[in-house]
Amino acid sequence: MASMALNSPSANHFVNDGYASFSRVRLCSFSFESSLYGCKIPKRQLSLSVNETRTTRPKPACYSGSEPVKASSHSFDVVIVGAGIIGLTIARQFLIGSDLSVAVVDKAIPCSGATGAGQGYIWMVHKNPGSQTWELTKRSHQLWKRLAETIRDQGMDPLQVLGWKRTGSLLVGRTPGDSMMLRERVRQLSEAGLTAEYLSSNELLSVEPALLVGSDGGAAFVPGDCQLDALRTVAYIEKVNRSFTLEGRYAEFYHEPVTGLERSTSSGKVEAIRTSNNTLYGKAVVVAAGCWSRSLMHDLFGGSNVKLDVLVKPRKGHLLVLENFNSLQLNHGLMEVGYVDYENAILPSGLNDQSQTLSVSMTATMDTMGNLILGSSRQFAGFSTEVEDSIILHIWKRAGDFIPKLKELSLKNFMKNRKVRVGLRPYMPDGKPVIGHVPGLSNMFLATGHEGGGLSMALGTAEMVVDMVLGNPPHVDNSPFAAQGRCC
Ligand SMILES: Cc1cc2nc3c(=O)[nH]c(=O)nc-3n(C[C@H](O)[C@H](O)[C@H](O)COP(=O)(O)OP(=O)(O)OC[C@H]3O[C@@H](n4cnc5c(N)ncnc54)[C@H](O)[C@@H]3O)c2cc1C
Repeated sequence: MASMALNSPSANHFVNDGYASFSRVRLCSFSFESSLYGCKIPKRQLSLSVNETRTTRPKPACYSGSEPVKASSHSFDVVIVGAGIIGLTIARQFLIGSDLSVAVVDKAIPCSGATGAGQGYIWMVHKNPGSQTWELTKRSHQLWKRLAETIRDQGMDPLQVLGWKRTGSLLVGRTPGDSMMLRERVRQLSEAGLTAEYLSSNELLSVEPALLVGSDGGAAFVPGDCQLDALRTVAYIEKVNRSFTLEGRYAEFYHEPVTGLERSTSSGKVEAIRTSNNTLYGKAVVVAAGCWSRSLMHDLFGGSNVKLDVLVKPRKGHLLVLENFNSLQLNHGLMEVGYVDYENAILPSGLNDQSQTLSVSMTATMDTMGNLILGSSRQFAGFSTEVEDSIILHIWKRAGDFIPKLKELSLKNFMKNRKVRVGLRPYMPDGKPVIGHVPGLSNMFLATGHEGGGLSMALGTAEMVVDMVLGNPPHVDNSPFAAQGRCC
């Protein structure tokens, strides 16, 4: 049964007894400073620029959790659809950076989408300087690093809290052609201001003894690249968000698929999101529903005057996790250079899903628990998240091509402590996310289509969305991500 997700027996949630509204151009303008949970927000004036009717602040009310939740109305400043890394970090950014109230809705629970499968690379080495996602990714990494530092400043260990490790990244190749390409990449990354270095086959052997690339091979090395653990990070972000529950600024509605919306009969603007259990009024609505965003928007606007087609589609990925792996040690995160081509592959128009072949590129990391995580596959297979054993075998074999020790081991021996993660990356055919308002609807925003980089780009995306909603000057040019011209 769908229910409102409450966080602790004593947690409050909001009921709307007497939904009221009043006209206001500017919702709030105030100074705010917080150092809560790893967030030091400089004093600044914030103002919600979405120019329409404001809902009242939700009123906290006690909820025992034992009564069935009845269909009812609640009002918030911002309603976010999707509790993946994108939706949750947007919620966090509103909570720590403004005094707006936020509701997060999900058809299931956090990490049930792509986020739960993510390997956790917060990497620049495989990004192309000058590409349209470069600045957003760079900004986002700054924010992740800042968050990790602040957590440390507050006496906590980012390794424990986020699974945060500054491992450095090795983008590796085995042929003379790969090596030439990697040298060129190092040159470009250095020119773009990053510390990057080319490592020859021999140099690689001394820094990463388990890795073998052959005498012609080499690697691009970016020592500043990091990794996080998606599950720990989400747990931390949820904790931050939930710390705003008691002051009446945050609520979660999990296991509640969004089923419809309400629009103003006069202006056509979106006023509320309907879920299976509730109607959630919001001054602004953000859809961060990952690869489901296209069908959701179709369902919400089908037959209306809003003509929109968010071309995001699911790109299935498998990861193989070998728990408590002690047969070898990895000092860095690894990725084979072929991954870059597959990540950036743009679906030629006219090709259908089935015409896309499976690709498997070696990625390998050790996480904070000593698990070896091997990846990864990419394929268009609709919305299926079924584990495919043939793909797992493929991943294992590919990893063995780079990490010879694995060839001495049999995957069968790991049946007990083997886990497989499958996720659907939200793929956009033009290779960049959609972050911006729905054309024609100034109070409804999209944040989706991050494909294989959603963890990496999350904090930058969250900042971008919040800046848009509040009317702040953007930290990063947001025009490449606009829905206008791409989704309609
Ligand atoms: C194998 C694999 C490895 C990856 N590795 C990395 C990596 O190393 N680094 C990196 O940066 N990224 C990585 N990614 C990509 C990253 O995981 C995604 O880009 C990111 O998780 C997308 O987040 P999201 O919040 O947009 O989507 P999701 O996590 O999919 O969240 C969307 C949410 O929307 C909810 N939803 C959908 N429809 C509805 C509805 N109708 N009503 C209510 N809720 C709804 C879903 O239940 C879901 O919880 C990887 C992905 C995979 C699959």
